[in-house]
Formats: sequence, structure tokens, C-alpha cells
Amino acid sequence: MTEANGAGENGDDDLSVVYDLAPACTAEDVSVGERYHATVNGVVDYGVFVDVSDEVSGLIHESELDRAYDVGDKLIAQLETIRDNGDMAFVPGEPEEYRTVAVDADPDQLRDRIDDLEPADTSVVEGKIVQVKQTGGPTLFHVRDGTGVIPAAAFEEAGVRAYPDVEIGDAVRIKGIVERHDGSRQLEVNSLTVLDGDEAEAVTERLETAVEEWAEPHDVEPLIEWDAMQPLLEELEGVARLLRSAVIEGRPIRVRHHADGDGMCAAVPVEYALERFIGEVHEDADAPRHLFRRLPSKAPFYEMEDATRDLNFALEDRARHGQKLPLLLMLDNGSTEEDVPGYRNLAHYDIPIVVIDHHHPDPDAVQDLVAEHVNPYLHGEDYRITTGMLCVELARMIDPSITDELRHVPAVAGISDRSSATAMADYLELAREAGYDEDDLKAIGEALDYEAHWLKYDPGRNLIDDVLDVGSDDPDRHRDLVAFLSERSTEAVDRQLDAALPHVEEEALDNGARLFLLDVENHAHRFTYPAPGKTTGAVHDRMVAETGDPVITIGYGPDFAVLRSDGVRLDIPGMVADLSAEIEGGGVGGGGHLVVGSINFVQGMRDEVLDALIEKMGDAEIDEAIGSATAAAE
Ligand code: MN
Repeated sequence: MTEANGAGENGDDDLSVVYDLAPACTAEDVSVGERYHATVNGVVDYGVFVDVSDEVSGLIHESELDRAYDVGDKLIAQLETIRDNGDMAFVPGEPEEYRTVAVDADPDQLRDRIDDLEPADTSVVEGKIVQVKQTGGPTLFHVRDGTGVIPAAAFEEAGVRAYPDVEIGDAVRIKGIVERHDGSRQLEVNSLTVLDGDEAEAVTERLETAVEEWAEPHDVEPLIEWDAMQPLLEELEGVARLLRSAVIEGRPIRVRHHADGDGMCAAVPVEYALERFIGEVHEDADAPRHLFRRLPSKAPFYEMEDATRDLNFALEDRARHGQKLPLLLMLDNGSTEEDVPGYRNLAHYDIPIVVIDHHHPDPDAVQDLVAEHVNPYLHGEDYRITTGMLCVELARMIDPSITDELRHVPAVAGISDRSSATAMADYLELAREAGYDEDDLKAIGEALDYEAHWLKYDPGRNLIDDVLDVGSDDPDRHRDLVAFLSERSTEAVDRQLDAALPHVEEEALDNGARLFLLDVENHAHRFTYPAPGKTTGAVHDRMVAETGDPVITIGYGPDFAVLRSDGVRLDIPGMVADLSAEIEGGGVGGGGHLVVGSINFVQGMRDEVLDALIEKMGDAEIDEAIGSATAAAE
């Protein structure tokens, strides 16, 4: 820290000391009587103004001057007085011999923590720019340090970009006054300096350390003891860390979830936890709206239409609101080869993808494209650990204070996806303690499915909260709403079955399983609830209940077929791959779970494809434990 030069001998303590202040040094770093290296910054009739740092200046009165000075001249100045108003008076004071002592700014004295800023404070904040937003008035620079993110308003002219050279990611020092604006704190900028060199590096290092600590997920006890989930919990910690870092760094999070009961039981808790964490980190009251978006996916994979919309939305937000590109979180969806084209489209940009899913995965196809992939199949488990169960734990790692509101959610998820996990008993018990019996949970699942259908591409934020009873403020309304919706759902399914069942055709398969076929295009109501997937599922359930035998059900339309099976060891993704290779010009695609899925083809090849499919089904092995392997996946 001490550097010797000037006319003296190195290290001679008897020599006069002249301090060389770092640019960031403040009035706290100077004392009356001490000498400083100074630079003339202004010449007036009554003297010259000198800077001893970027922050500290003072006047040498004309009567003290022994020669003329120009702006930029260097000299040694001795601090003579500090007036009550903070003005400083210096005198020229170059000793014959001296040594120079470099003084670094005291970093903690200099900077304020964003979290600590109080209205009316004059503050200095050092951090990084995470967003630059031009309003009709000032330019808003969202700046973060290790403790929070605050908007800093700089005004050039109404609607005109202030500090046009400042960019996202710049390390800056902002001086200003803290004010309240629409109930939130905002820094009114007096000066904004982009830091470079050592100073920028120091800010980067400080922020990296702080983010690492702050992003650390909460250490929560899982809601139930379940060994099978253990390895997944460790991976979910990694996801929680990524999501918390994204929030701290001002990177928006976009969630795509399967639009069914389990998918919503996964996405809603994560939404709830992240919104709270965003509110904790970001001062801007609009931040949760800008930094988080949950959207349902109709297909059980990332359709190119969704991927294109997401990308377009992200790029527009970046252009219009100066936002970073988002992180994409795929829930109850996203593990399969069908997701690859959408992912590859995003890969042209800095958009990390995180997947939490329990559909049978194609790890070889997606692994290189995703930052994290949590899936029970990757640990020798299966769909019985549902995405909703996983995401309730994830949400609690992000914000454990929401635990009490989520105790019934894993059970709803499990019932919706017909999880036969032994742990379901524990989840049902947990829900019972929170006041929901099994019929309540089933009704919630049905109501979610029913509303998902009518909401189409809308997340239905508040409505879904009321149906699922997470963050809902009126328990009576929740109960009435679920009763109404689940009743409507049951009526609609019954109406569909009344129309469809007389047209269901049966074929015997070579392996002894019974095959039921329904033309959902001609013998079911269209464009209403339940859609073909759920209609086929309802027919299938009826047949399983009536026969007690191994059953496969196919609901086919002009260019697609929905498949359900119980008691037969199908490998739908495998069959799809084989048919695609074997039937020339069939245009076969699709996939899903092993025993629940869908297949698509070109209309003119339907008979060939269905015949070949049925032949493969007749070759499949019969399961000894009948009725154990169905998962709902429309
Ligand atoms: Mn699911």
C-alpha cells in the first residue's frame, strides 16, 4: 500500500508524507494538515480549484498562490480547513523531501448497500447494470449489488436516453438521492460513472461472491421421507440455485408447463416462490411481472410454435425494455426428442434451458441442449414421482415460507397423474392434515384439467390459484368453485361417453390383450371438453373397469391416434420409431410415456399405420401386475 518516491530515500519514515488518494476516496479519507497530490480543475479570479480525488476538491485562495496555474497542472496541496458546510481550503505545500503514500478508498465506507438505502439518503452505489429501460420521462437503470436491485432514474430530457454509452453488464458507480416512487425506493441519479480496470474487476468479484452466497437454496427437509426421491432432490437444489441466480442477475424466467393437473401443480408453486423471491431482491414493484411468466403448453412437448413465440417475446423484451434474455424452465414436459427442434431454435441465443419432467426421456437427444435435466427415469425411477411432487420441493428450496400453502399439492399432482407410488399414502396423509380428503383432491385435479382446457394458451393466474388453493384468500370460494368445475367436468365426460361408447369396436390381440378402438373424429363431440386424449382415456378407464383384463385403447382421428394401455408392456416411443422407419410415406411421429402416448401420421396413410401399430401391440408382453402402469398424460 505504501509506495516511496519523490526526493527522499526509500522507506525513510522521517520524511514528510504526501498522500496519493485513489479516485474513489471521499472526505472521510482526508484530514486537516495533511498533504495530498492534487490536480488543478478550475482557475478563477480568487484562486484555483484542485481535486485530490474524484470525490474531494477544494480551493486554494489567490492570496496563497505563488505562481499561475492552468487546468490540469499537478501540485501538492495541504488541507488547511474544512468548513461546516464541507468546503475545503488548501494551500500549496510541496516539502523539500517527501515520500508518497497511496490511499485506497475504504470500500465499505464508500459504498451503500442497496438493501439499506433509505429515502432522503444521499448514496453511492456500486454494482452492475441489469436492465436499461427508457420511459417517457427518465431513463431507468436497474442496478444490482450483492444485496438488491434498485432502479436508478437519470434524466436527460423527457423520453431521451441518458448516459447512452451505459450498457447492461457494465460495472458502475452511481451517486444519487433515494426517493420514494410509487411506493418503491428509487435512486435519483446525480452522477453515473462506468468503472473500468481494477475498479470494475473489484465490483465483478464482489458481486460474484455475493450472488453465490445469496443464490444458495434453502436447506429444507422434504415434506415426506422418500428414498427414491433423494437423488432428484440433490439435482433440484442445483435448479433452485440457477433460478435464484437468474432472479438476482435480473434474468427473466419463462416457464412452459404441460397444461394438465400435474403440470399446474408443478408450475404454480414455483411461480409463487419465485414471485416472492423476486419481490425480495428487486425494489421495482413491477419486477415480478417483468421477470416471471408462466405459460401452458398444449402439446406434451415444446412445439415450434411455442418456441418461436418465446424467442420472439424475449427478443422484443430485450429491445423494448432493455431486459436480459430469459431462462426457460420446462415443467412436466421437455424431456424428449420432440423437444429438440424448439431447443435448437433457442440455442442461437443466450437462453439457458432447465427441464423438470417425469415423461420417459430421450437423454441422448436433449442432454447437450439443456443446462439441467431432472427426471426420475434418469435415476432408475419412473413417472410415479410426478413433476408436481418434485416442484413443491423445488419451490420450498427457493422460499420455504410458502410450505404451509403447498401441503396438499403433491397429492393433487399424484392423483392427477395416477401415481401408484407407495409414497402417495404419505402425501395423502399430509393433505388430510391440511384439510383435504381424497375426494377433494380428485375434484381439484379434475377442476384444474377442466379449466386448463378452457384457458387454452392463457396461464389463468388468479383463477388457477383459487382452484388449486395456493395463495387463495377465500377458502369458501375455492370449495364452491372446485365443486362446480369438477361437476361440470364429470357431466361433460359422461356426455362424451354416452356418444362414444356405442361406437367402440373391439379386437382380440394375439397376446390375449383386448383392444378397443374409437373414431374420435366421428363418434365424439369435437372442439369441446374432453378433447380426444381425455376422451380416449375415459373410454379406456371404463373398459379396464368392466373387463379386468389387459386392455389397450386407441382413439384415432384423421391423422393422429391417442394410445392408452393397462397390463400390456408397450413401448410407445419405441413403436413410433419403428413405424416411422418401416412405413414409407407414413409421416409417422409422436411419443409420450411408455404406455400412454400419441402418434401422428399423414391422413392418407392412416389405415396402413394403424394396422401396423395394432400388429406391434399384439406382440407386446402381458404384464403380470395388471392395472399398475397407467399414467395420465393427455
Ligand atoms: Mn405429469
